[in-house]
Amino acid sequence: MKLVRTRDVNYEVDFKEAVLNPSTQDSSLYAPKSLPKFNGYEFKNLSYKDFALKLIQSFDFKLDELFIKALNAYDSFDDKNCPINIFKVSDKLYINELYHGPTRAFKDMALQPFGVLLSALAEKEKFLILCATSGDTGPATLKAFENKENIKVACIYPHLGTSEIQAMQMNSLKAKNLKTFPIEGNFDIAQSILKNLLNDEEFKKDIAKQGFKLTVANSVNFARILFQIIYHYYVCLSFDKEIDIIVPSGNFGNALGAYYAKKMGARIGKIKIAANSNNILSEFFNTGEYDLRNKKLVKTISPAMDILISSNIERLIFHLFGDKRCKELFTSLKENNFFKLNKDELELLQEDFEANFCTDLECKAYIKDFAKTCIIDPHTATCLKLVDNNKTQIISSTAEWTKFAPSMYEALFDKEVIDEQDALIDIAQYYEIGIKREILDLFNEKQKELKIYQKDAVKNAILEFVL
Ligand SMILES: *Cc1c(COP(=O)(O)O)cnc(C)c1O
Repeated sequence: MKLVRTRDVNYEVDFKEAVLNPSTQDSSLYAPKSLPKFNGYEFKNLSYKDFALKLIQSFDFKLDELFIKALNAYDSFDDKNCPINIFKVSDKLYINELYHGPTRAFKDMALQPFGVLLSALAEKEKFLILCATSGDTGPATLKAFENKENIKVACIYPHLGTSEIQAMQMNSLKAKNLKTFPIEGNFDIAQSILKNLLNDEEFKKDIAKQGFKLTVANSVNFARILFQIIYHYYVCLSFDKEIDIIVPSGNFGNALGAYYAKKMGARIGKIKIAANSNNILSEFFNTGEYDLRNKKLVKTISPAMDILISSNIERLIFHLFGDKRCKELFTSLKENNFFKLNKDELELLQEDFEANFCTDLECKAYIKDFAKTCIIDPHTATCLKLVDNNKTQIISSTAEWTKFAPSMYEALFDKEVIDEQDALIDIAQYYEIGIKREILDLFNEKQKELKIYQKDAVKNAILEFVL
């Protein structure tokens, strides 16, 4: 199967091209023209990895050997035989824990196999992967490419702008092909440095002299979406009826995976989109308006969802309404910071989706309330607003609580945090839960002296790293 551009279906590429060159001149993303039908229920007795391969094969990308190798990345997860864990809360409510990988966030589900895939596909080329992170993407991206051939990763993040654990996860990696660039400034500045570099022709020429091509590993890359379809489909196999899936959403990659799973054949009822106070997604699904006018990003305790421009909505619009309408709507978004679906389109959208959002205050109350049952992180907690006790539902849990110890501590004990390590241990002791050795060890490791970069110094520092 070929992949096409969301704003021009006549432009086709094969899978490899879409993975290696995800950015397009017309700002399209690559997506399947139509989704393959896949009867996963036939394979309900297979292991996760074998099931995953069957699902991927239904796309007919013809790279089986490579996908087998990529899926082996899941062997390093907590349970070698299955990267996810389903926790039963009640007969009606289940939690799909997607954070059992090396960096304790669901980003590992896609980035771990993706790292293998990209490194192998790159063969003749070398890639410099740039990454700007507010916390979860950075550790997962660095870890995915640790010691991978043909790849270097430069990860820019706001110094003191992530949790302590996340910064330690990034800085504890010693592979020579990885480097962090903590900057003076906030996440917006980190992101603007990244954007400027991606458009900097001189910079691209300079790294090309060393044989490197510039790329990013975010969920604009179709390969990441591919690995995010599998776990949504896989959980459905345990049920003999339709279930709803609730997804804490930011860039909409995870929720898009659930939608693709449904359209391929998984028995999913509603996909419920949970947002935080940056409620642009919940507004969109409720009104059909995507409206950036007068919106300002606010910082919340679920930072991985602090997003206003949710890239993967474009793939959803394309699938529902085709390339011409997609182009029309996203041109309007670019020019007017706004687009609006018509009444029929909104009705069609709402056949598959529902949405709502949580303020930080509500989110903290949910964390505390739910702690009697289990400890969930601030992103996962936004899902609780969407639980409907009359239906069978699965919450996608996107991070382990340990990554957000300060917010967790405030939510659970209503006290300010003085020391992140103490907060972590206090919570674990009070609720009698274990903490992974890898997380605790981070505190024991002697952190190297960090160099903090001014924003104008990052470009040259990255060049030095590549040369
Ligand atoms: C990235 C992330 C999200 C948002 O996922 P999208 O696919 O961007 O919608 C939610 N929770 C956590 C913990 C994340 O790291």
